[in-house]
Amino acid sequence: MIPVKAYAAYNEKDPLAPFEFKRRALGENDVQIEIAYCGVCHSDLHQARNEWGGSMYPMVPGHEIVGKVIAVGAKVTNFKVGDTAGVGVMVDSCRVCKNCQRDLEQYCVEGMTGTYNAMERDGKTVAQGGYSTQIVTDEKYVLHVSDKLDLKAVAPLLCAGITTYSPLRYAGVTKGMKVGVVGLGGLGHMGVKFAVSFGAEVTVLSTSPSKEADAKKLGATNFLVTTDAEAMKKYNGYFDVILDAISANHDYTKYLDLLDIDGKLLVVGLPSEDPKVSPFSLITNRRSITGSMIGGIKETQEMLDYCAEKNIVADVEMINMQDINNAYERMLKGDVKYRFVIDIASLKK
Ligand code: NAP
Ligand code: ZN
Ligand code: ZN
Repeated sequence: MIPVKAYAAYNEKDPLAPFEFKRRALGENDVQIEIAYCGVCHSDLHQARNEWGGSMYPMVPGHEIVGKVIAVGAKVTNFKVGDTAGVGVMVDSCRVCKNCQRDLEQYCVEGMTGTYNAMERDGKTVAQGGYSTQIVTDEKYVLHVSDKLDLKAVAPLLCAGITTYSPLRYAGVTKGMKVGVVGLGGLGHMGVKFAVSFGAEVTVLSTSPSKEADAKKLGATNFLVTTDAEAMKKYNGYFDVILDAISANHDYTKYLDLLDIDGKLLVVGLPSEDPKVSPFSLITNRRSITGSMIGGIKETQEMLDYCAEKNIVADVEMINMQDINNAYERMLKGDVKYRFVIDIASLKK
């Protein structure tokens, strides 16, 4: 067993606090990673505070993990000691169902194994995430990370990156398409970067007028304040695709109305309450709503390789592990540009 230091949520109310536990001993297919950085996803906060129900405590959140491989099991072929590697939202799946066979492990028929707030497939080990010094993961669910990019800024690609890349690809976003991105947070800002890099004309739709300059810097052509009803009206029926990355409860109809013929609302945000949808908005222009959950391992590697080629990383603000509770409060206020990343070295002090 491998002793590690971490920060955990002990229940849904109290701040996260130091926690020590043991990782499983290195199995023959496992990779042992010394974690350098871990991004802070809004899903960490949702789960630490039990906003989706069913949270398991103590919980070590964190699924935007990057670091160095320090040991490999006897049968590992794809990684060696010294490699830079990443682990995202999923650490296992059944591997044999129709979806696993199609490189869509995130939709495993038995349910994928989350990186934390989940049981490993042995039925007895609690999966714990990246707010910790090391992780042990089967090599099939470990990603290669290029040394060309700034590693701190790569960490958020493991969730915010793949979660926006995958639906934009699936929707066929390409040159000249009109794409809206709603919610300029960790996911949203990656959505803007990818849509711009695919050649789309991008509009950011935000509740925060103060984010306009950043949106333009990220490559957006237009910026729309969603509380301005008059401005919103001008964009009725305008977009081919809208990526909804809002973390809080909201009405889908407001964004559906902005879609053109066959327009798609790509939902990735996961508020706790069910949204309202008007069937009249949906039938108008033959619109559809499509959900999307992270991406498969193959596509995640493709996204990381694409980012290395195009020099795409997240805009990050570094924090020490001890600052995590303050970071959660700031994230709730939309006060982060645009992803907090924990320097895991702070955990070792
Ligand atoms: P985040 O950084 O906190 O960003 C969320 C953004 O939503 C905020 O920056 C804000 O943007 C907007 N927002 C917040 N409150 C709002 C409100 N009341 N009304 C309208 N807009 C509001 O969160 P994140 O890490 O990007 O995650 C976003 C959501 O995606 C979370 O629910 C998370 O759990 C989910 N998620 C899903 C997947 C998946 O696989 N589908 C993966 C990862 C995360 P503006 O200031 O621009 O309005
Ligand atoms: Zn996430
Ligand atoms: Zn499966």
